Amino acid sequence: MFNSTDVAPAAPPGKSPMILPREKIDLIYVAGCGRSGSTLLDAVLGAHPAVVSVGEAWYHARWQANNFACTCGAPFNACEFWQAVAAKLRQWKTAVAITPVTRHREKLLSVLQLYTGAPLLSAERVNRYGRASYQLFKAVQRVAGKTVVLDSSKNPLRLLYLCLSGYFNVKIIHLVRDGRAYVNSTSKRVQMPAQEGWISPQNVWRTTGRWILTNSLSRRVCAELPDIPSCLIKYEEFSAAPEAATRRLCEFLQLEYGPAMLEGAGAAAHNISGSRWRYQARRAIRLDEAWRQELAPRRLLVFSLLGGWLNRQFGYQ
Ligand SMILES: [Zn+2]
Repeated sequence: MFNSTDVAPAAPPGKSPMILPREKIDLIYVAGCGRSGSTLLDAVLGAHPAVVSVGEAWYHARWQANNFACTCGAPFNACEFWQAVAAKLRQWKTAVAITPVTRHREKLLSVLQLYTGAPLLSAERVNRYGRASYQLFKAVQRVAGKTVVLDSSKNPLRLLYLCLSGYFNVKIIHLVRDGRAYVNSTSKRVQMPAQEGWISPQNVWRTTGRWILTNSLSRRVCAELPDIPSCLIKYEEFSAAPEAATRRLCEFLQLEYGPAMLEGAGAAAHNISGSRWRYQARRAIRLDEAWRQELAPRRLLVFSLLGGWLNRQFGYQ
C-alpha cells in the first residue's frame, strides 16, 4: 500500500523467531498527547477497509497481563481477535509483549539523540524493540486480513524506535489539540472503562509539562526523520469538519477515501486502551470546546506561562 520494500537489516542472531522480518509492514502511527481526540481519529481511520487498528499497542503487555477489557467489550484474553493473534504467534513459536520504552537510560538517550543527532541508541536494542512489534503486527495483519496497521500509541519515543528499526513503512500523523483544552480535561476525574477504574484530577504543572514534552518530541521525530512521511492535524479541524479532514488524511496516507469511514466510526474494534468514547454504544464526532467555559484561571495561567509559546506555534491564539 505504501512504498513497500524489503527490510534492510539482517535477521539478528540468537533466538530466531519463526517469522523473520522480510517485508516491511505498512504502519500508520498516531503521535501526540493523550485526550486530543486520538480515539476518534483511530476509529475513523480504522474503518478503512485496508486498515486494522490495534489502539495503543504499547500497552499490549499490560492488557495481556491484567486481562483488561478490549474495546469490543470482552476481557483481553477472551477476545476472539486477540486470541486468534495469540494463536498465530504460538504457531510461529514466538511470544511477544509490547511495552513502552521504559528504561530511564533509554529514554534519556532517545531524547539526546533527537536533539544532538548523535547515534546514541544501541542498534541491538532498537532492533529487538522493533522486532517484537513486527511479530505482533504480522500476526494482526494475518488475522484481520488487512495490509495497513494503525498504532495509536502516541508516544514519540516508541515512534522513534519503530522508525529506526527499519521494519516498517511508517506514516506519522501528529495529532495536536489546544493545550488549554488538554489541561482542562486533566482537571477532571475520568473513568477508565477497560481497567474498571478512574483517573483522578492531575496537577496542572505536571500535565502542562507532559503536553509540552510529548508534542515537542513528536514534532522533533518528524523533523529529524525527513524520509518518514508525516502530517500534522489539529483535533479542532478534524472534529469540526471530519469529512474534509479525513479526505486530506487519506490523500496523505495514499488510501482511497470512502464515506463509510465516518459512518464506521461507530463499529466495534479490537483496540487496546482508548478513551471512554470508544466503549460507548452511540458515538458522534463533535467539536468539544467546553474548556472555554470550564478552565480554571490558575490552570490557564500556568499553562500560558509554560506552554503558551508552543501552543501559539501550533496556531492557537
Ligand atoms: Zn476484542
